[in-house]
Amino acid sequence: MDFRLTDVQEMTRDMVRDFAQNEVKPAAIILDKNAKPEDCIPWDLLKKASKLGLRTAAIPEEWGGEGADYTTLALILLELGKADHGFASIIRGCYTESPRLVHELTPEQRDEWLPKFLKDDTFLLGLGRTEPDAGTDSHFLYDEPGKSIQTYAELQGDEYVINGTKHFISSGGAAKLYFLYVRTDKKGPISTSMSVILVPSDAPGFTIGRYHNKFGRRLLPNAELVFQNCRVPAKNLIGIAGEAWGSEGEGGGGPQKDWTKGPGAPPPFGLLGAAVNLGTVIACYEEAVNYCRQRIQGGRPVIEQQHVAIDLARMKVQIAAAEALLFKTCFAWEERYDYDPKMGMLFKAFVDEIGLSIASKSIALFGGMGTGDDDFPISKYVRDVYTFLHGFSTTEVALLIGAPTA
Ligand SMILES: Cc1cc2nc3c(=O)[nH]c(=O)nc-3n(C[C@H](O)[C@H](O)[C@H](O)COP(=O)(O)OP(=O)(O)OC[C@H]3O[C@@H](n4cnc5c(N)ncnc54)[C@H](O)[C@@H]3O)c2cc1C
Repeated sequence: MDFRLTDVQEMTRDMVRDFAQNEVKPAAIILDKNAKPEDCIPWDLLKKASKLGLRTAAIPEEWGGEGADYTTLALILLELGKADHGFASIIRGCYTESPRLVHELTPEQRDEWLPKFLKDDTFLLGLGRTEPDAGTDSHFLYDEPGKSIQTYAELQGDEYVINGTKHFISSGGAAKLYFLYVRTDKKGPISTSMSVILVPSDAPGFTIGRYHNKFGRRLLPNAELVFQNCRVPAKNLIGIAGEAWGSEGEGGGGPQKDWTKGPGAPPPFGLLGAAVNLGTVIACYEEAVNYCRQRIQGGRPVIEQQHVAIDLARMKVQIAAAEALLFKTCFAWEERYDYDPKMGMLFKAFVDEIGLSIASKSIALFGGMGTGDDDFPISKYVRDVYTFLHGFSTTEVALLIGAPTA
């Protein structure tokens, strides 16, 4: 087994680290304080990241992107996550959605949308699946007839007419194109009634409702998507109507598929988002180490107090284990060696768990200085880590491996 990074991977990581620490981190600390979520969107950072090739890194070279391998994408997100979780999550969205432009679209659809995505530095993609009454149920099979998502697309002539509301959609209000999950059959079970339709942000009848005012990851906009007799061409349907369940690659899938190992297997679902989270967890730890080196109490730096050093050592051990799991999963996926798509979920569940403990222990080591945003960014990092807990954590791993959860 060989986990050594290639020269290109090392160069990319160093370039992203430089950009993240010198540009993303200071800008994010300022943007994060804006009162309105829509004012936190980091447009300038996005343009710079795009010029560096980060936005389009997941598109294969032969299709006009950078063709970064999975390990490189994880490295990029780890470094960006150390600087700002929200901004890194925007770039993560590009990596989970943009390959779909290449792999899932028809040649005609691809010709229409891929060049637009490649050329425009601010072109983002969104994935609209969750609804106010269909959260976990939209991702895991709750197959009662007529249940789960309710947004409905009716075929009328050569158009789909869409009605319904999505919420918490990442890059909502900023994205120019959405992969929208709809019902094309109102009464059937979701496993045979769900379809994906491409909806551009300027489609008639499509508006943005409220922006969710999250306490963390504020640079990532999350918004309601509202469809009132929204009309899109029928040719915007991806694949076959009613067969979208489990088609989502990294962003979904569901436990009912018997994913086989080998060339047809999807990437490790959940891994890229959790790589971002691990980056921010590492940032919590590093802030705590730096603070404990400089803070003198009892006549010496607090890092020299034995229980503080032990706390930090435990965090370091957990981080090392998470990094090993991250790169093992990337290796397993890229080599298709002992690979299972659930490995991404396992990694996410592990990072969620150590993330909570490391974030809360780190902020405790700041004493009173941990409670404000002005002197140290630790409270922002902790908010960011806590905003990552929704969805696909231990409960979902339990569901995936078939354990009873109730
Ligand atoms: C920052 C952020 C970004 C997001 N981005 C997107 C996006 O881009 N696109 C999108 O479509 N959605 C997005 N979402 C929505 C996200 O996918 C949902 O929040 C997630 O699926 C959980 O749904 P929910 O919030 O409705 O929680 P619920 O489903 O209401 O769950 C509440 C609790 O019950 C537990 N639970 C639920 N069902 C079960 C069950 N069957 N068995 C045991 N326990 C269960 C859950 O684990 C959770 O602890 C985002 C959310 C956030 C906060």
